[in-house]
Amino acid sequence: MPDYEKELKTALNAVEKACELCMEAQRTLISEESTAKNDRSPVTIADFGSQALVNTLLSAAFPEDKIIGEEESAILRQNKILSDKVFALLQNRLSLQNASQVYDAIDLGAGITDPSVFTGRYWTLDPIDGTRGFLRKDQYAVALALVEKGEAVLAVLGCPDFPLTETEKGGIFYALRGQGAFVRPMQGRGEQRLRVDRDTKAENARFCESVESAHADHDVHGQICKMAGFKAPPFRMDSQAKYAAVAAGKASVYLRLPRKKDYREKIWDHAAGALIVEEAGGKVSDFSGNPLDFSRGRTLESNTGILVSNGLLHDAVLHAVQEIRVTGQIP
Ligand code: AMP
Ligand code: MG
Repeated sequence: MPDYEKELKTALNAVEKACELCMEAQRTLISEESTAKNDRSPVTIADFGSQALVNTLLSAAFPEDKIIGEEESAILRQNKILSDKVFALLQNRLSLQNASQVYDAIDLGAGITDPSVFTGRYWTLDPIDGTRGFLRKDQYAVALALVEKGEAVLAVLGCPDFPLTETEKGGIFYALRGQGAFVRPMQGRGEQRLRVDRDTKAENARFCESVESAHADHDVHGQICKMAGFKAPPFRMDSQAKYAAVAAGKASVYLRLPRKKDYREKIWDHAAGALIVEEAGGKVSDFSGNPLDFSRGRTLESNTGILVSNGLLHDAVLHAVQEIRVTGQIP
């Protein structure tokens, strides 16, 4: 097995720098600095800046590697105000001559559809996962994973607002397959190994789900959890911070059933978080109990519903999913 030392060092550095960029942009963000994409989801100068920065640092270290990121530069190319702000955010972080360098960096993986890319080695990036959370000053994450043969092998998840302790927030979560998962506080020192909780009883356990009800079916989640015996109300959080919460033992289960039946989950919304939970001793599957397959393109074509758990509660929740499935609410 390769040691991935250079990959990890590069990914940690890139995500750390992207988190700093996001924090700087968030402190001063004004309404002209965000806009809506075709699907009406928001995108900000920080999403573009973060993707340009991570793509530039990654491609300098690994020029052969493909990077599949969430954003594309088309909106920026048509919006001078936004484009100038992204340039300004990046100027003291990269040596840049002009805006087209920024557009090209953002578009490094744009338009890639060749199936052999996805069955080989590639990186996937969500430059700001949970942009709605970022805008509300709630949770968001910079999520980066290296995928090989359909499986994440390295993950870095930067969560600048994640509550580590009562007084400390902000952590860089990371994992290498087979080597455990860890968190580095963004302020202060020390690194800790992550471990899922040991709850075997649903009645003591907490489950988490998206804040946005358009992204996940809260009603069906509620039915599944009731059937499985959960008593506590859901713990709602934006972004892959939910995976971090399970990996750190702050929640035992994360459920995600898209509200729209034809919606397919994006690879960049799951690859990093899933590996971190698995390496913290947890389990990740779809609602049929199958592993997530990152070899099918930009979306998880062969998976419906995402179930993340401490491992111990996985079968009980899957069993409840089967019971609810007969009602026709789960595809
Ligand atoms: P969350 O923070 O859990 O609400 O998840 C944020 C992610 O939801 C974004 O990165 C989007 O890729 C994804 N998303 C956008 N629209 C939908 C949808 N209709 N159903 C499920 N996920 C979505
Ligand atoms: Mg996202």
